[in-house]
Amino acid sequence: FGNWPGIVAEWGKQRPDALALDDGETQISWGELSARIDRMAVQLLDDGLQRGQAVAILGITGIPYALAYLAAIRAGGCAAPLTTSATPRQLANMLADSGAIHLFIDSEKRSELLTSEVDLGSAQHIMLDSAGTDAPALGEWMAAQGAVPDIAPPLPGDAFNIIYSSGTTGTPKGIVHSHGMRWRQSVTGFQAIYSENARSILSTPLYSNTTLAVFLPTIVHGGMARLMGKFDAGQWLDAAQQMRATHTMLVPVQYQRLMNDPGFDAHDLSSMQIKFCTSAPFSAELKAEVLRRFPGGLVEIYGMTEGGVVCMLQAHNFPDKLHTVGQPVKGHDLKVIDEEGNELPPGSKGEMVGRSPTMMSGYKNQPDKTRDMEWRDADGNLWFKMGDIGIVDEDGFVQIVGRAKDMIISGGFNIYPKDLEEILMQQPGVADAAVVGMSSERWGETPVGFVVAAPGAPLDLDALLANVNAELGKTQRLSALHPIDELPRSHIGKVLKTDLRAMLAQTAG
Ligand code: ATP
Ligand code: MG
Repeated sequence: FGNWPGIVAEWGKQRPDALALDDGETQISWGELSARIDRMAVQLLDDGLQRGQAVAILGITGIPYALAYLAAIRAGGCAAPLTTSATPRQLANMLADSGAIHLFIDSEKRSELLTSEVDLGSAQHIMLDSAGTDAPALGEWMAAQGAVPDIAPPLPGDAFNIIYSSGTTGTPKGIVHSHGMRWRQSVTGFQAIYSENARSILSTPLYSNTTLAVFLPTIVHGGMARLMGKFDAGQWLDAAQQMRATHTMLVPVQYQRLMNDPGFDAHDLSSMQIKFCTSAPFSAELKAEVLRRFPGGLVEIYGMTEGGVVCMLQAHNFPDKLHTVGQPVKGHDLKVIDEEGNELPPGSKGEMVGRSPTMMSGYKNQPDKTRDMEWRDADGNLWFKMGDIGIVDEDGFVQIVGRAKDMIISGGFNIYPKDLEEILMQQPGVADAAVVGMSSERWGETPVGFVVAAPGAPLDLDALLANVNAELGKTQRLSALHPIDELPRSHIGKVLKTDLRAMLAQTAG
């Protein structure tokens, strides 16, 4: 376990002129980064930041965002990045829950919040971009001078960051990660992958754990990170080629867009060493295509904000295991259990439970929700329910079947949407598909599909439904198919099944 607050200052001393961050608009060296972060830390402490207290951040990912994040850590506080897609009410809840008295925010988000009727509490606003009418811009706000006072080094269990889950129930769950967890996740096991020569390109938001999985190891090892506020395949390719990127994290839809981009093969990406992928199902076909066309190794991560990295698949080394997410990482135990909590033998489908040194500290202010995730084995050892259904094969490779809460129970049979989605996706003319459960008087629930037509290929929905159902078991059959222009997805490319279920409920009632 190392010294997070001192990391940037250390690299600032060791490699003052080396490039640290680039967001397309601005570039900043390690020396400049360290100097700015020190000034921000002094100002935060002057403004009353307490040890371990959250510093909230809300806005588009870029250098100012990263500065706020790293300054919070430098000052002995904890970073609380807020989900940009959350509603004003959810954001106000997150802010109150975090206990932050500082909110770094950009103009767009600020006007959205101020025009809403929601009570935002009394946190001081500091603008990430231009100044607001009554809130200072980052540059002006840093009036305090002088060296960062000696702060007591954090203990391994102290909070490093709070990440809010999507919070579909209305109450956001703040997932707290400790300094120790972050160090193990960023350094242990990544030593061989990163060095000060790492050049990482990131195009997912910094509030997501997915992005941090590459951003923090890059920072700890003194490499450089290119931060993109949004993903665009053409811009990504140009930037990756130009900077001679060595590392990246992309989510499956982003890999798909890159593979579909007509300019892909014309770009020189030969500098790429390791590409990571996580956060949503990544089909074996797409992995194979990425391995064929995209230079560098491909590492899929299966994990969750609560539990960190659970499994990893070095896809380039296991071409016959592309349908899996690999094996549990060192230090992580994983079991599959049935509904009664009995351990299941290899090859069985069931809910996965795990334990590891990268587990969250808990949900902030919600001990009952934390307890809901817990599971104890016969010896009383504590495990954590991952919320996903999986299968462990004879070689210990894990196949993700789907989320426990997306499982459809129809007439007493379990239906896994992914099985149906895979068959839908194989049909000619189908570009994208998702299956959710709709409540049914007769069956309890019944599966319903949403399909996106491939460009220029109008779909005959009746014929499609008949073809798909002919391939499905009797208890799995879809009761309806709906056309949709595009599946609703989160900022990191996850299909928002709650939105699809809401659409069904609306049309039904
Ligand atoms: P919330 O918990 O708020 O509903 P979330 O679970 O989507 O949101 P994350 O912690 O970002 O939030 O995502 C973890 C989930 O993403 C896992 O539980 C799993 O369902 C899915 N996931 C992550 N990695 C993979 C992967 N490699 N393949 C398939 N699914 C994955
Ligand atoms: Mg989750």
